[in-house]
Amino acid sequence: MSKYDFDLFVIGAGSGGVRAARMAATTGARVAVAESSRLGGTCVNLGCVPKKLMVYASAFSAAAADAAGFGWTVPPPRFDWATLIANKDREIERLNGIYRNLLEGARVKIIEGRAAFRDRHTIEVGDELFTADKILVATGGRPFKAPIPGAECGITSDEVFHLERQPEKILITGGGYIAVEFAGIFNGLGTEVVLNYRGPLFLRGFDDDVRNTLAAEMRKRGIDLRFDTVIDGIHRKNGRIEAALNTGDTVEADLMLCATGRVPNTAGLGLEEIGVDLDARGAIIVNDFLESSVPGIYALGDVIDRIALTPVALAEGMAFVETAIKNNPTVIDYTNVPSAVFSQPPIGTVGLTEFEARSEGFDVVIYRSTFRPMAHTMSGRDEKTMMKLVVDGPSDRVLGVHMVGPDAGEIIQGIAIALKAGATKETFDRTIGIHPTAAEEFVTMRTPI
Ligand code: FAD
Repeated sequence: MSKYDFDLFVIGAGSGGVRAARMAATTGARVAVAESSRLGGTCVNLGCVPKKLMVYASAFSAAAADAAGFGWTVPPPRFDWATLIANKDREIERLNGIYRNLLEGARVKIIEGRAAFRDRHTIEVGDELFTADKILVATGGRPFKAPIPGAECGITSDEVFHLERQPEKILITGGGYIAVEFAGIFNGLGTEVVLNYRGPLFLRGFDDDVRNTLAAEMRKRGIDLRFDTVIDGIHRKNGRIEAALNTGDTVEADLMLCATGRVPNTAGLGLEEIGVDLDARGAIIVNDFLESSVPGIYALGDVIDRIALTPVALAEGMAFVETAIKNNPTVIDYTNVPSAVFSQPPIGTVGLTEFEARSEGFDVVIYRSTFRPMAHTMSGRDEKTMMKLVVDGPSDRVLGVHMVGPDAGEIIQGIAIALKAGATKETFDRTIGIHPTAAEEFVTMRTPI
């Protein structure tokens, strides 16, 4: 019998923590998980899931506008914010219950409260102490507000899901995927949107053709994008906010959303006190096997600041269980991780951007296609889809695939399998398309640009 209360204690019941706790428990290990908020973590409560539900909600206005070209007469649609939020909350509660059932079904003990280290094997939650052989920190991240004078007037993505009223006008500051997605959500729901970003173009790190295509499409939908623009200061004015920009302009809005990044959740855990090394951003430094500088203390997910996506946290959870619980050391493969941005139109991407491929010394061949999606030949909407292949000329291997257009995330998930299997451009060419789809374009592009 072990001298500890548990074989494994997990701090944080988010994407990575729940997966690791459940999978560890199925091996017969005695597992506990502490959660200070709601089961499911950021993804379920304040991230992927409510966000995607709101993206769905926001797409109906465009669908209604597009229907006329197909013969429909649609009365002017009306949207009710309170109904959306209530229905979304009901769905999230259902998911919280599913997470509870999954954990309890696997015999994981759920401990409600904020956990912190007392020593290398002891965790404190409220006034209770628990000991464990191994401890996994899966505490995720939290929004970071850029130090703009007056930024306290603004909200972050944590609050945006629970607004009592829909703003008539919103100022979104930031250039990452969260800023871009909420710009699309609010625009689709009928809010006037201004998005400002300090750099020359948003979505740094994405392929330049993707970034430029999306910026053009968002502008066509009426989103006011302001690049190379910083906010000098914000203050409240008559129940609204007023932001002074470095361009000399001011923007008045009902609400400001600060989407200026996220930081790892390590404050107050007592990590430094027990010798766990953190990097300059406060992320836990781990080795290839997710073990920190203190043997037996592991970390995964957003708190290690590698790739902050739910499926990556899940993969790390699986690798952790193999390594630390099943004694089968397993390294995670971070190459060709696909991702989507649920902008309107959405982005799907996998592998290297053209810039990355050239910087890494590849002799790159580029295939690119820009076309009007079939539905818009009749809807009349002025929207373009962009698809791009980045190929290594000498070996013919496909290094990256990028798309902006309807269903991009769904399409790129399948293409990611091909890249993982090492597909060459010739493999793409030999593959027969599905007609009529947009995706078939990926197997019919023949002329490099
Ligand atoms: P989390 O899911 O954040 O879980 C950490 C948990 O730890 C939380 O429940 C927290 O309450 C708990 N906790 C923290 N400190 C303590 C403590 N001391 N004691 C006890 N519990 C504690 N990813 C995608 O793949 N696709 C998307 O479309 C997507 N959209 C997103 C949209 C938004 C607005 C945001 C913010 C994120 C989005 N993400 C998306 C990212 C995704 O949510 C995260 O990568 C994922 O949730 C990370 O999982 P995790 O297990 O590391 O942490």
